[in-house]
Amino acid sequence: MKVLVAVKRVVDYNVKVRVKADNSGVDLANVKMSMNPFCEIAVEEAVRLKEKGVATEIVVVSIGPTTAQEQLRTALALGADRAILVESAEELTSLAVAKLLKAVVDKEQPTLVILGKQAIDSDNNQTGQMLAALTGYGQGTFASKVEVSGDKVAVTREIDGGAQTVSLKLPAIVTTDLRLNEPRYASLPNIMKAKKKPLEVLTPDALGVSTASTNKTLKVEAPAARSAGIKVKSVAELVEKLKNEAKVI
Ligand code: AMP
Repeated sequence: MKVLVAVKRVVDYNVKVRVKADNSGVDLANVKMSMNPFCEIAVEEAVRLKEKGVATEIVVVSIGPTTAQEQLRTALALGADRAILVESAEELTSLAVAKLLKAVVDKEQPTLVILGKQAIDSDNNQTGQMLAALTGYGQGTFASKVEVSGDKVAVTREIDGGAQTVSLKLPAIVTTDLRLNEPRYASLPNIMKAKKKPLEVLTPDALGVSTASTNKTLKVEAPAARSAGIKVKSVAELVEKLKNEAKVI
């Protein structure tokens, strides 16, 4: 069974992002970039399926600039077999990404496609769902457990106040939630081996996909700065402030 995993290059989660002075977007100059954390969970799940003998090949795909090869090499070091970069320097919408992934699905014919539930840069939480719609495959989003048996996959989903288990006919789309697994670290020998694994570079044109956007970002702003806290001397003062200043009681 072939598993396709989509990985996105994003600003590292430890970085405190800065908005550009002209409010046109986030300043990415000299900022540490990493694999989206939910995509790390997706890669880990695929590797575990291979270790269990369920998956036979793991193909990782990223859509982004040439530098996204770094995240693909990381995925190869974690256990993926080969990588595809769909090279695009533009900032793409989820729909454009989903259309490109659909073209890769058509080319690769995977049995299972695993994506993160959301990318921590744009927080869209759309790509997996859009890919399911474009391919017509069943979708199990926010997965905390994935079990393949025969031509079906059972996906336990994190939903408000509990868990829901759905059974999907393969091929299917799964998006990962935080509790699905704890990703491993790549070992040095595997990082070295990953340098020799195949990495194919494609373009949206070669896949016959138009990435023209229907969205336009008007403005990006940092959250309002919080004012400094104060220390109160007594419970009475606290109650007085909560009543008359904060007006919450
Ligand atoms: P989003 O819908 O943008 O929040 O992203 C959800 C998931 O879709 C991510 O965790 C990735 O698995 C996948 N994805 C989004 N953008 C890309 C991209 N440029 N390249 C590869 N995968 C992506």
